[in-house]
Amino acid sequence: MNNDILHQAYDPEQFRQQGHRLVDRLADYLAQMQHGSALAVLPWQSPEDKLYAWQTDFDNSPQGNINQFFDRVLMESIHIHHPRYVGHQVAAPAPAAALAGLLSAFLNNGMAVYEMGPVSSAIERLVMKQIAGKIGYDSSGGGIMTSGGTLANLTALLAARQAKTSRKAWQEGTQEQLALMVSEEAHYCVDRAVKMMGWGEAGIIRIPVNDHYQIRTDQLEPHFQQAQKGGKKVIAVVASACSTSTGSYDDLEAITHFCQQHDLWLHVDGAHGAAAVFSEKYRSRVAGLSQADSITLDFHKMLMTPALTTGLLFKNESLSFDTFSQRASYLLNEDEEDWSNSGKRTVECTKRMMSVQVYTLLRTYGWELWDENVTCLYDLASKFAKMIQQRSELELAIEPQANIVCFRYIPANTSAAQLSDLNAQIRQQILEEGKFYIVQTQLKGEVFLRVTLMNPFTTEAMLNELLDNVIQRGEDLQRAI
Ligand SMILES: *Cc1c(COP(=O)(O)O)cnc(C)c1O
Repeated sequence: MNNDILHQAYDPEQFRQQGHRLVDRLADYLAQMQHGSALAVLPWQSPEDKLYAWQTDFDNSPQGNINQFFDRVLMESIHIHHPRYVGHQVAAPAPAAALAGLLSAFLNNGMAVYEMGPVSSAIERLVMKQIAGKIGYDSSGGGIMTSGGTLANLTALLAARQAKTSRKAWQEGTQEQLALMVSEEAHYCVDRAVKMMGWGEAGIIRIPVNDHYQIRTDQLEPHFQQAQKGGKKVIAVVASACSTSTGSYDDLEAITHFCQQHDLWLHVDGAHGAAAVFSEKYRSRVAGLSQADSITLDFHKMLMTPALTTGLLFKNESLSFDTFSQRASYLLNEDEEDWSNSGKRTVECTKRMMSVQVYTLLRTYGWELWDENVTCLYDLASKFAKMIQQRSELELAIEPQANIVCFRYIPANTSAAQLSDLNAQIRQQILEEGKFYIVQTQLKGEVFLRVTLMNPFTTEAMLNELLDNVIQRGEDLQRAI
């Protein structure tokens, strides 16, 4: 190799210097964030302005100066570690897990086959087995890791399809109109999975929710009967644990009972809230979880790892080997279950060494870390809900079951349409000001402000300030009308 630029790109000493500097920079940043930095949580700029600014940067490239670039990325990004970040449900990664992410990125052990990721393959098996045990599965439980909750849900439903049809769906497609039942509050990716499997709109049966935005379990039977009459073959129920909008947990025990009666696959979309299983205090939220045939669990939400890091657990892990292939029945024995070549059971061929990120936390801190994190954030959400209830200007949507809290500013004598408009404007102003980052959601067609407590450094004082801010803006907007 006589090309200088390649030597430069792989220069160990330069890497050492840049790496040290970056870690120092991130450590300072983290300390600054934890002290409630005055920096805007999201330095707001419109997408067009942002694109223009980076186009200019590109037009001046190559520039060689990696430090300057990293600094700029750091300063212009949304600051997830900021304790006033209380928006979407993305973890502020624990530094150890982020370092594991760097290690994974550097080693690039792609894992599809054992030889291409011996450590991460073994660790994945180990971690998934351990978590299966925590969930309450017996020794036939286990799982795989995949890139995100969306993909995990699709993978689970493909396994369900293979298990609950004549077992030829993978080779011959499906002649029947297959369908699943899911709450109308489920994450949109369930709908997407149904459509990707080619079941069409008829393949998703949406069950209404109760006042707590939980699936109405009394509606399962009539919807099931109706679907059967209409010639559909219902194969699964997807339960939300918890739902994305309001953090509501479906009643897993009642749904399990229904699934057992009709021989349906129960998939629990626990991308966000299955993590409650690690909290002694909140474990009862997922009572019945061990009856689920499959469970999606995002580590990059409640469990402090960088994205994307997702577990897909199976009560009978053996069935996960059927997802992408059909085994001849004479091969159905343990020895044929080749756990170590992970690509056989995932949509991905190459994937990140995500198990390393998870195991770094587990090995360093034990289960207690996740218990503390989940408990602390769920506790904080309860306190925040009480603070909202104490303000007559605000309305709490529902008592939170997780760390997600929905509420709105609600002045007297305002129509529903005006209320939605007003709250959307409040949220937009807060976004652009940058002192806090919150999001919004629609509940029964009306706009609510939505807060997810993701950072254990968020204090009650900060949350009080947020409520002052919301009310102040609401009043100013009212006056301006
Ligand atoms: C976040 C979430 C998803 C999507 O997971 P990704 O990891 O973002 O793909 C799916 N379902 C629920 C309930 C979620 O909260």
